[in-house]
Amino acid sequence: MQNEIRGTLLDDGHYDSTVHHLVGYHSDEGVLTVYLDIDPASASREGYEAVLMNLWKPLHAQPFDQWTRGRMEYEMAGVTDEVRGWEQAPGRSVAMFFSGPGGLRTVIPLQFPMRSMARFEPRPVLSPLIAALDEHSRYCVLMFDKDHARIITVVLSTVEEEVTLHGDVIGRSAVGGWAQANYARHREHHLQEHARRTIEHVWAIDRSRPIHALVLAGPDEALAVLRRMLPTALARSVVATMPMEMFAVAADVVKRVQAIEVEAREAKDHELIAELVTEAESGGHASVGWDGTLRAVGEGRVHMLVLPEGKTRAGVQCPEGHYLAVSQMKFCPLCGETLWQTEDIVENAVRSAMTTDAQVHFLAPKASEDMADRGIAAFLRY
Ligand SMILES: [Zn+2]
Repeated sequence: MQNEIRGTLLDDGHYDSTVHHLVGYHSDEGVLTVYLDIDPASASREGYEAVLMNLWKPLHAQPFDQWTRGRMEYEMAGVTDEVRGWEQAPGRSVAMFFSGPGGLRTVIPLQFPMRSMARFEPRPVLSPLIAALDEHSRYCVLMFDKDHARIITVVLSTVEEEVTLHGDVIGRSAVGGWAQANYARHREHHLQEHARRTIEHVWAIDRSRPIHALVLAGPDEALAVLRRMLPTALARSVVATMPMEMFAVAADVVKRVQAIEVEAREAKDHELIAELVTEAESGGHASVGWDGTLRAVGEGRVHMLVLPEGKTRAGVQCPEGHYLAVSQMKFCPLCGETLWQTEDIVENAVRSAMTTDAQVHFLAPKASEDMADRGIAAFLRY
């Protein structure tokens, strides 16, 4: 834990380690979690300061004892100072985790909207952040024609990297001297070389920063050559082919990717739900429903926790971590400890799952509605 005067501003690449650090964090002195949405339409300081002040109201109304209230107000003052210190809004939204006594002062600017909220609890509230990060995969748009290739990676609705390659691998002077019969073969060879180099680039990107989905754009003839040469792993990640001008403005490309992303997410999540239900009904390694899934979380048997977005229940968790439930029980049936009560058992389940290295997956909006009656679910390790 670092002691810092200013909040830490993080790059995209650090999300994973930061989230994992926060998952294990707890302090009896309390942690103030704030998600602040910064609406671009009112991104003035007065605008987001007013939102922040509104977030304090429900916290003030909580029935905390005097000591806890004092601690909470100390952290509120810290967050308020932080926000007032911004020369301009650091992102489209910001996640903040403050606990002075533990030296926790983490400020994470995010490039997507978040619902504003604030909570003061012994642990950072992470499920909104994890849900939001899970929602955004790395998309790679590959625009390819006989003369050019443009590779754009998009993460969190922003262009991460853009590369343009030129297809002229063989000197143009050679073409003039070629007999007409050879020209077609030359062109074919040229296109294949160009495709090979392009694929090598995409492959290298995927090796350093995994591409979750690949979108292809370009004339049919060129794309056919490219597709034939794609390695299986990349071919499997192709989610769409779209018409797109080679030199379209990057912002337009991002917009198109967002639309494709929404559809692809829903389709994938519907498959996932079907698989969970089939597996659970046949007595396989899956659990569907609050009780069984929370039990599996407590027992460390979860491989992937699957959650509808924005749905939670009140519940209990044993401080020992081995028991979670949606019941109103007072004592742990396993060890007799007094159970923690919570209004948001999903937050506890996410944290417990992550400490046992399980994946956490939040469903897309329509898939979330389909799961609403069933509650939560998981693929199990055993
Ligand atoms: Zn227990």
